[in-house]
Amino acid sequence: MSQKILVTGGAGYIGSHTSLLLLEAGFEVVVVDNLSNSSVESLRRVEKLTDQFIRFYKVDLTNFDALSDIFKEHQFDAVVHFAGLKAVGESSQIPLTYYEQNIYGTINLMKAMQKFNCKRIVFSSSATVYGDPASVPIKEDFPISATNPYGRTKLFIEEIMRDQAIADSDWQIVLLRYFNPVGAHKSGQIGEDPQGIPNNLMPFISQVAVGKREKLSVFGNDYPTPDGTGVRDYIHVVDLSDAHVKAIQKITGLLGVTTLNLGTGKGYSVLDMVKAFEKGSGKTIAYEIVDRRPGDIAECWADPALANKVLSWKATKGLDDMIDDTWRWQSQNPLGYDS
Ligand code: NAD
Ligand code: UDP
Repeated sequence: MSQKILVTGGAGYIGSHTSLLLLEAGFEVVVVDNLSNSSVESLRRVEKLTDQFIRFYKVDLTNFDALSDIFKEHQFDAVVHFAGLKAVGESSQIPLTYYEQNIYGTINLMKAMQKFNCKRIVFSSSATVYGDPASVPIKEDFPISATNPYGRTKLFIEEIMRDQAIADSDWQIVLLRYFNPVGAHKSGQIGEDPQGIPNNLMPFISQVAVGKREKLSVFGNDYPTPDGTGVRDYIHVVDLSDAHVKAIQKITGLLGVTTLNLGTGKGYSVLDMVKAFEKGSGKTIAYEIVDRRPGDIAECWADPALANKVLSWKATKGLDDMIDDTWRWQSQNPLGYDS
């Protein structure tokens, strides 16, 4: 019998891609999502692409009773936990909402898991927990800190999970620290569909390319980097999702808490990304240099060696794939899932 995986936040950007790859790898997938930042259309498209069924529950993780009902109905082998709020700027305006949704939501989830004896979880953490790192590439044993409420929710959740693994050694926990996820499935059927003005670079550039936004604001060109603009480790969402599938396949052999960077190990600047997108899409990306964005750091890229070793995983897609796949999704769905 196939293993059954609960995917929280499965209707979202990374969750929908991971659900697709889990189905392709032979897992049964159940999704819980409150649809606060997504559309169930993403899951319908995953079902079409895989010709398989996803059981979907529109439930908020802060609702313990509703969550328990799902655990009563299904015996899960493991949970992949994506659900949460993720806008850095917004987290400073409504920190209580961020702490409630992300931290309280996770505590509820883990309480339900404990109660129904499902103690394997893969969690979406972020490179933001490294704060402003002293050097690059970043390794998992670098000191962690947070510079905004969003980052603090990731940091606290990591600590909560470590405490739980100490309290009960049956827990098997994989903390995946993502660098910068971009791109879309090669079908062009699922991708990133941000509500309102995108906070992140790649969706902003692709909305300029498709004519939805006039120009990109480049946040500073006076950083100590080769061209003065910020450098990041962009990773294709399908590579990232593949690491989740591998984590689920290996989790029974991992004891306690395993913390892994998910990146490519390569850094690209904002202007590298603009030039590459222009080449890939054939469109001109208008931009202007503006002030630095508060809280941004100069450069950030991963040392992914540990994830390569522990998961037998490696990012295989390069910048051209990231851009071609983003552009296919964006041009075929100019209004996202509402297109
Ligand atoms: P997303 O917003 O597309 O997906 C998150 C999903 O969770 C959404 O479908 C949303 O409706 C759902 N959700 C939010 N709060 C919920 C709640 N209380 N109950 C049930 N569902 C809820 O975001 P994403 O880019 O797919 O990110 C997934 C995870 O990865 C998040 O935890 C995010 O913090 C983390 N992460 C993302 C990035 C990135 O750049 N995209 C980087 C590092 C970490
Ligand atoms: N950036 C930018 N303009 C934008 C959005 C982002 O110049 O509209 C820059 C940002 O300063 C950083 C890089 O692009 O150097 C990646 O930013 P993003 O918000 O995508 O991810 P972050 O690394 O901040 O999580």
